[in-house]
Amino acid sequence: MHSEDSIFKRNIAQTSEFPLSLEIDRAEGIYLYDITGREYIDLISGISVSNIGHRHPRVVKAVRDQADKYLHVMVYGEYIQSPQVRYAKLLAENLPLELNCTYFVNSGSEAVEGALKLARRYTGRQGIVSCINAYHGSTHGALSVAGNENIKSPFMPLLPGVDFIRYNEPGDLGMIRDTSACVIIETVQGEAGVIAPSDDYLQKVRARCNETGALLILDEIQTGFGRTGTLFAFEQYGVIPDIVTFAKGMGGGMPLGAFVSSKKIMDSLKSKPALGHITTFGGHPVSCAAAKATLEVLLDEKIIVDVKRKSDLIRTLLKHKKILTVRGTGLLLAVQLENSNMVNKTIDLALSKGLIIDPFLFCDDSFRIAPPLIITDEEISKACRILLEVMEEV
Ligand code: PMP
Repeated sequence: MHSEDSIFKRNIAQTSEFPLSLEIDRAEGIYLYDITGREYIDLISGISVSNIGHRHPRVVKAVRDQADKYLHVMVYGEYIQSPQVRYAKLLAENLPLELNCTYFVNSGSEAVEGALKLARRYTGRQGIVSCINAYHGSTHGALSVAGNENIKSPFMPLLPGVDFIRYNEPGDLGMIRDTSACVIIETVQGEAGVIAPSDDYLQKVRARCNETGALLILDEIQTGFGRTGTLFAFEQYGVIPDIVTFAKGMGGGMPLGAFVSSKKIMDSLKSKPALGHITTFGGHPVSCAAAKATLEVLLDEKIIVDVKRKSDLIRTLLKHKKILTVRGTGLLLAVQLENSNMVNKTIDLALSKGLIIDPFLFCDDSFRIAPPLIITDEEISKACRILLEVMEEV
């Protein structure tokens, strides 16, 4: 197969000067194969997407079966489409009772847009509280709640009325007021370098939301669908959000996002104005069929129960003098090195040895490990062996 690298650089919009430029031929399980037939271990799951591995046979079958019936038939919210309905029901059965009504969209950013709009519409308030170093997406609304000036400043003005608090700092919770529509928080901060909530932090956030009437939005876009060792990360911290956002791992490799809330809160989007939030492709039938198969795989194949043990295995094996810490929850890990100069070199060297890892947006001294949850102990050992070899060379 000949390389299409020059066309990629010319005709595909570039997002940086240094794309990984791996030329993909196919993918299977935890492996990617390039056009020369070379095998790579995908230790990042396409950034927390391929939780059940690439091209899981049950997902591929669901996609094929749905493609044989219908693709897009109408904008979201008008026709009764069985893939959406059945998946929303299964999702509700696996979420706390309060989270029983799903609005399907196409991506994480869009889920965040919808969640912020819903909070403002339901409360009639304007204020939004987010966290320093938060990442919630790249569209204007989602970018407005990003806790990093560098990625925001060239795109100003963004949404007004957003206040930023320090994650894990209960002393800042006074900034949630009775003028706040919502607080948006990643259950575990991802792009900040995998920072888990300490002690009862999220419970304190929940309590402050209850006091002020602000809605609690938990962003589970990177942490959802088994990634942290429970189906949803918030299950580990004794809180239930008013709205939760999903995407990434949800679709099992197909594009799908959602914001989920109670029927009561969600119903506020029906009127004044009607069609206050609409989408053409949201909840695409093929994506919903894939998502339902993905959730069934996660539930049936007992994948999630092994996540913590696999995480511990990685932490045990990844011991090296150049590795300062391995931080994270479940199979969402940040490996902190001695200094930030080593990170890109580590990523390049790992790639040259057939292992894919990547950096974080807001944590330059660490790299990400977030493999498909189906990775076996032998594959973990192999990947860690390669990483330790890289550490010797970097
Ligand atoms: N929220 C979080 C926590 C994320 O990690 C991401 C993507 N990295 C997003 C939102 C945005 O999702 P998307 O790229 O699908 O728009």
